[in-house]
Amino acid sequence: MAAFAIAALSSCGGSTGGDGAPQAQADSLVTRADMTLVLDSIKVHWLKDNEGDKLMPPALFDAPDSLMSRLGLQEGVPSSVSTFLVECGGRRILFDTGNGAADSRLMAGLDSLGLGGGDIDYVMLTHLHGDHIGGMLLDGDVAFDRAQVYVARQEYDGWRQMPDGKGAQAMETLGKYGERLHLFDYGDSLPCGIVALDASGHTPGHTAYRIGRLLVVGDLMHGVALQSSYPEYCASYDMDKERAVGARRAMMEYACDEGLTVVGMHFPPSLYVDCLPVE
Ligand SMILES: [Zn+2]
Repeated sequence: MAAFAIAALSSCGGSTGGDGAPQAQADSLVTRADMTLVLDSIKVHWLKDNEGDKLMPPALFDAPDSLMSRLGLQEGVPSSVSTFLVECGGRRILFDTGNGAADSRLMAGLDSLGLGGGDIDYVMLTHLHGDHIGGMLLDGDVAFDRAQVYVARQEYDGWRQMPDGKGAQAMETLGKYGERLHLFDYGDSLPCGIVALDASGHTPGHTAYRIGRLLVVGDLMHGVALQSSYPEYCASYDMDKERAVGARRAMMEYACDEGLTVVGMHFPPSLYVDCLPVE
């Protein structure tokens, strides 16, 4: 049995770990965004892509109304569209890229840290939905002109083979990155010691990434206030619901066993979740 302990950390540096980063690196990490967490030698910047507040409509979830009301979620489930910038060993890794819409805040978030698209070394994609890869392009061209881009082969193939041209946009976006696009299998060794984990179900090759004590879970949970306690309920966006439920349970258990801090692309802003085993 395992449960998530919800902990909202809003101040710079958080309290979940010591800053083991070398001084020279720490000096270059000017943190003006207020949603930063230090976990041992990595620094995690929460970059919210959407403007304003965001509630997922209750009808999105297949949970009974009575449960949603009991949890105080009858008006909606607090969420966001977010990306995460991790600084580790002098490298900058961006996990997903947001919507790429006119009001997207990703580039402004990077700018607030003194960074531009050209400063990103790696882009790790959890999956190929538009709210995760939309920001890969800027005015039709690549937004990260130096970055090596990683996506699970299972996810790439899933969208490449999607009927009715549903994967065409994703293929076109990724195609712009040419030889800088890398497909991996789960378990392959990735840059910066990143471990890719099979969290498929939401999409054909939905991927969670572990880096140090951080677990980036993509769209494992669209409504963390509901699904962290009730992983059996899906959002309608989950393509294979049975697998999505299995992935939620497996990732939660993994995070608890390993004592990881969990972030997701639709968690409400600054909600870093520590998973603690319970009796
Ligand atoms: Zn999403």
